[in-house]
Amino acid sequence: MAISLGLSLSYSRFLSQERASKKIQEFQKNRINAIEFGLLNCVLGKARIPGTVPYPSEKQIKAILEIISPIEYYLSVHGPYRISATTDEPKKLQYSKSNLSKSLLIADWLGAHHLTFHSGSFKRKHNNAYVQKVLTEWEEWRQHKGYNAKMAPEVGGKYNSFADFFTLVEIAGTIDNCLITWDISHDFARGGKITTEDGVLNRLNLLDQTFDLNANNRLPMHFSGMEVGKAGEKHHTLLDHGTGVPWKLVFSVLKEQKYLDKVSLICESKVPKNEKIRGDSLSDVIRAREFLESDEFVKSYSGKPGHLDYYFN
Ligand SMILES: [Zn+2]
Repeated sequence: MAISLGLSLSYSRFLSQERASKKIQEFQKNRINAIEFGLLNCVLGKARIPGTVPYPSEKQIKAILEIISPIEYYLSVHGPYRISATTDEPKKLQYSKSNLSKSLLIADWLGAHHLTFHSGSFKRKHNNAYVQKVLTEWEEWRQHKGYNAKMAPEVGGKYNSFADFFTLVEIAGTIDNCLITWDISHDFARGGKITTEDGVLNRLNLLDQTFDLNANNRLPMHFSGMEVGKAGEKHHTLLDHGTGVPWKLVFSVLKEQKYLDKVSLICESKVPKNEKIRGDSLSDVIRAREFLESDEFVKSYSGKPGHLDYYFN
């Protein structure tokens, strides 16, 4: 399995076994071999707020596992919006940890490799040392609890969200077993220089120096179309829409550098609310695979690099 490529499957009480089984048939038909279970709207206890759902039970996960063989898929979990490593309010931090705990437990029931989560959704001021301390404590606690799924905080898409690629790698690199989730569309949206070959190569070099990546320990990557505004990410869209995420350039470097067996690619494209455009995340995955398996290499970026004029590197 050289290429690990797939999409997210949102887990909610509405995901019946029948629907899941239909989806899996669709996945098999399209050679999808990675699935990210989305727990984004899950809450602890009874879901009282509209739009939220309780976490799936072990029984529900077992029912899903009867359809999905963990041997055939590279499985991961996307944690809920309720996790924040940037908050300094003790109650919120404790609540974050409880949600992290539940998500890790579910990831282990599934046999998932890692748990992706947004590091700071409460929009606190960036404080690298503080987040490093929180993540280090969480990692020690994760090991103490005996959870297998690794933590993989995600590169944020808004300029004010925690954190950019380099900050996150620096922090995760000091913590045993901790990975990052490199969302290239978020990286692009917040002004990261993935619009040049050098910018992408820089990142791959740093990843190689920091993590021990291989076919069994892949770096989680996300990609999607992205609408970018003044503050970074506005919303996800399809690959051919929005502000022109340089996915072909990034994928070309991955191909050239023989990096595809070190990453797991998850497509997070979606049609924005109230927009009528053709396609969905599955059609974007199919496009991505076609490109990855072709001899085509894109060497330069011809789009507009978002609206942010402050670039990191
Ligand atoms: Zn993402």
